[in-house]
Amino acid sequence: MAQLPEKDIRGLLIDLDGVMYVGDHPVAGAVSAIEYLWERAIPFRFTTNTTTKSLESLRLKLNRLGVPAESHEIFGVIQVAQSLLRSKGDPTCLFLLTEDPLSDFSEFRTDDEKPDVIVVGDIGKVWDYRLMNRLCRMVMNGSELIALHKGRYWQTENGLRVDIGAFVAGIEYVTGVEARVVGKPLAEFFGLAVDSMGLERSQVAMIGDDIESDVGGAQRAGMLGVLVKTGKYRAEIAA
Ligand SMILES: [Mg+2]
Repeated sequence: MAQLPEKDIRGLLIDLDGVMYVGDHPVAGAVSAIEYLWERAIPFRFTTNTTTKSLESLRLKLNRLGVPAESHEIFGVIQVAQSLLRSKGDPTCLFLLTEDPLSDFSEFRTDDEKPDVIVVGDIGKVWDYRLMNRLCRMVMNGSELIALHKGRYWQTENGLRVDIGAFVAGIEYVTGVEARVVGKPLAEFFGLAVDSMGLERSQVAMIGDDIESDVGGAQRAGMLGVLVKTGKYRAEIAA
């Protein structure tokens, strides 16, 4: 943190998974780095593509790990998806989410047969042929496909694990329809996170463990990208 390049960096976007914690274990130095920012009143947002937890559960997890973050300091893909769905009026939705994050979308109508919108998040091991087949048919019949993100893999306590991007790409391949992706690495996502701090993109650095979603995305959005060597970082990928 103390060795940021000599740019006019006034604020930070900080990834959660692989940067602040892996599983239920904080990454060494992460908590004290946040304390450093708070002490100096340097604004930051935890920017996360996490779809396995509601925003409130994410905040509580950070609290448990020793980071008493406030709601406004978490900028997740869930908030952006909420805004996007609201902008569509009153769409019927099929959410591929587990119960906890689903609670963040309780304001929207659901339809399991012919939804206006399919929202793809993390449902763990529930993915199978039948579900893929059902979703592909819905998309071919006109349902819009929204992917909360298109991550390839992520770091768990037991190694790398296939992420939802594989299934999103599968549906795209079958249907020939491209999903609308909401989270990192989209420039729009980073822009909204930066706006929430009242800063310019050139004044903000993004710190993450994903060279594409975090660092590449931030750079394309006109920000400084900083790759950490924790989480899913692998030297051979960064080389
Ligand atoms: Mg990460």
